[in-house]
Amino acid sequence: LIRSFVNTLNIEGGTDDLDTPDGLSEWLANEGGIKGTHVDEAARRRAVELREALRAILLSHNDEEVDEAGAFEALNDFARRARFAPVFGPEEVAFRPQAPGIDGALGKLIAIVVAAESDGTWSRLKACPADNCTWAFYDHARNRSGKWCDMAVCGNRTKARAFRERSRQPRSPAAKKSPPNRPSPSGMG
Ligand SMILES: [Zn+2]
Repeated sequence: LIRSFVNTLNIEGGTDDLDTPDGLSEWLANEGGIKGTHVDEAARRRAVELREALRAILLSHNDEEVDEAGAFEALNDFARRARFAPVFGPEEVAFRPQAPGIDGALGKLIAIVVAAESDGTWSRLKACPADNCTWAFYDHARNRSGKWCDMAVCGNRTKARAFRERSRQPRSPAAKKSPPNRPSPSGMG
């Protein structure tokens, strides 16, 4: 869900699902399963602020230089406004946001980040470092080495640049082809 939230901005496609309060309201209801949140322009701006703080953290998971302190400060502010409290039930005890409106709705996203942090999956959620991309993706690589949102797009673009630089160096001669085997004569003997 966090990946979907960060990817509401599609830089390459030039679209932003959160560019209007209605867009945010639709995303919350359809993607987030958070219905009936009153969304105005101020609420929309808060959501975008959270989205960009999350993107900065996802870029830092990819060893990119970002304002990490600023992003954490923003996240802490959202967590405070969401007013988390333990909620007891027969199956579990969970910290849930108690604030009404957008603060509570965005708090549900913060709760997912907290859960991902404790189950070890948070650092695998990364943002693509390619210019004009910053698309969020989940790094499935066993050694957490995934860098690009999609090797076919951003990875290859970067590899092509590296190849052009390498190809200026002299190449080694190609190996000679060995002659094909002759068919053995048949019908003899
Ligand atoms: Zn990318």
